Amino acid sequence: MKIVDIRATTVAVPLEAPLRHSNGAHWGRFVRTLVEVEADNGLVGLGEMGGGGESAEAAFRALMPYLKDHDPFQLEALRFKIANPTASLYNNRTQLLAAIEFACLDLIGQHLGVAACDLLGGRMRDEVPFASYLFFRYAGDGFDEVRTPDQLVAHARALKGEHGFTVHKLKGGVFPPDYELECYRALAEAFPGDRLRYDPNAVLSMAEGLRFGRAIEHLDNDYLEDPVFGLEGLRYLREQLRVPLATNTVVVNFEQLASNVLRRSADVVLLDTTFWGGVRPCVKAAGVCETFQLGVAVHSSGELGVQLATMLHLGAVLPNLGYAADAHYHQLLDDVIEGGKLEYRDGRIAVPSGPGLGVRLDAAKVAEYSEFYREKGGYLYDRDPGRPGWYAQVPNERFADPSHPG
Ligand SMILES: [Mg+2]
Repeated sequence: MKIVDIRATTVAVPLEAPLRHSNGAHWGRFVRTLVEVEADNGLVGLGEMGGGGESAEAAFRALMPYLKDHDPFQLEALRFKIANPTASLYNNRTQLLAAIEFACLDLIGQHLGVAACDLLGGRMRDEVPFASYLFFRYAGDGFDEVRTPDQLVAHARALKGEHGFTVHKLKGGVFPPDYELECYRALAEAFPGDRLRYDPNAVLSMAEGLRFGRAIEHLDNDYLEDPVFGLEGLRYLREQLRVPLATNTVVVNFEQLASNVLRRSADVVLLDTTFWGGVRPCVKAAGVCETFQLGVAVHSSGELGVQLATMLHLGAVLPNLGYAADAHYHQLLDDVIEGGKLEYRDGRIAVPSGPGLGVRLDAAKVAEYSEFYREKGGYLYDRDPGRPGWYAQVPNERFADPSHPG
């Protein structure tokens, strides 16, 4: 099997409502670039990357000289061809490599008639548990805002009722820490027996991180995720707190993982199939974590069905997956894969069983949402449409006003 062509198509898929986070917001849609890698036997492998537009499409097309006639089975060679660690000092292609790796796994699986997870060690579970991933949000078309503790609890209750979540993750860093603490406590009170996690995207000061961590020590926390920025900041907090710390920001490659093993800063590493450069590096990293007794979870940086499939196959094969995975997926109104959105049942999504990634693109949906992208364009992820002129600092000292509906 040899690669003969690559196509990249940017799409925008609407969200229920604009989602707020510490750096800004998702402005009511996700912009993603879908990748189709075609082989000489007519098979097409699928990949996906966050962001998009002409530059992303051109970046994938520009890889054709590296990919032409490459055998998709040769995944280690692919890594060095595209993202050799020293050559990549000049061209950071990790996220591009990830999307191509997904497509190659999809091609290999289709060629052999086996699911991607069976190429990665075989499935340890048939379904992957997910957390509710709660955001403060602006009102959307037909969807309420989420700003107050009551609104947050009502939103979580609706999601739990619909999808069966028993783990709740609050994305914070939007409002002052004391206010978000009140929101977190409201969740704990509303859902006794469920588990909780809080992620302010590293914007708390050391003092606030310490205060927040101490205030939640008695609750049913999975972990406190990136309360402050940096391995050293986390390490200091970890010495002071009796809450496990997790990160998806400062352990996203093997060098950082080595640092975290030698001088532990985070107890749990959130593996992201894009940040790490593919599904296989995540499986390797999980092996290191297993050896050193670090916890492992699956990170979400916003996904459509193709990326979600990579997260499901990853979740399927990790013996040490100790936590529910994150996904923004339930915030989406639609998807671009055949059959529509994958369904949650009892807070879990079934691992696709078809060959390769087990999902196929719905051409009509891709056309519809590619047109929607052309109409609406991208958005400034690190700006908040409700706070003109504002930009984020780390640590932040200019939080949004929770009394303002926005
Ligand atoms: Mg995070």
